[in-house]
Amino acid sequence: MKLTVLGKYGPFPKEGGATSSYLLNVNGKNILLDCGAGAVSRLLKHVKPEDIDVIVLSHFHLDHSSDIGVLTYYYQVLSASGFNKKPLVFCPEGGGPLYEMVVNSPYFEVSVVRGGEISMLEDIDFEFFPMRHPVECVGVKISCGGKTFAYTGDTNVCDSVDDIYEGADVVLIDGGFLEKDWAELKPHLSVEHIVEYTNKYGNKSIISHINPKYTEEELQKAISGANEKCLIAQESKTYEI
Ligand SMILES: [Zn+2]
Ligand SMILES: [Zn+2]
Repeated sequence: MKLTVLGKYGPFPKEGGATSSYLLNVNGKNILLDCGAGAVSRLLKHVKPEDIDVIVLSHFHLDHSSDIGVLTYYYQVLSASGFNKKPLVFCPEGGGPLYEMVVNSPYFEVSVVRGGEISMLEDIDFEFFPMRHPVECVGVKISCGGKTFAYTGDTNVCDSVDDIYEGADVVLIDGGFLEKDWAELKPHLSVEHIVEYTNKYGNKSIISHINPKYTEEELQKAISGANEKCLIAQESKTYEI
């Protein structure tokens, strides 16, 4: 598996950056994980949208889903010239206009999922987890050929984060806060929490959903207790899973 970070910021990007969006290549299949602001422009550097097999939208906050509308226009143009492959879209229930657009789109095959559900596409397993966020949000574990990659979407501390860490080789995780700004009722984990999870479970963490107000130096200081197992996501970088 290979993971390319298209956008790593949330809830808005730094200048020239993009919000949550990641491209996972599993055994020749292209899986787009979230589609935040600026994602389509970044995606085009790596794959053509017609080569995307699966899209997982963790939830319908705009920093994870705003570019899905723009991507739809791309498929609309393709469709007019006879292209009829439909990417499979996994998403939780949303209720807002973007959710309605996705589930009613003629360009997608949509599967609305809840935490606890498992789905398969050929030899790739998708297991979904309910996360703790102000709107319905699903995390996902994607397994193939003995490797397991996991993505939390947005979440604060909850049992699903432990479930996701159990047995995953690499976890792409929401590090929306530094500890000084984190609170029990806020919508994201802190980078320091992720260091604790990484040390507890021993797997590798890629920290994303970075708040643009934090400097690289502050973030590096926060992960210094986790040796080389915690990485701060870098946009346009590809990671071997
Ligand atoms: Zn977010
Ligand atoms: Zn969110």
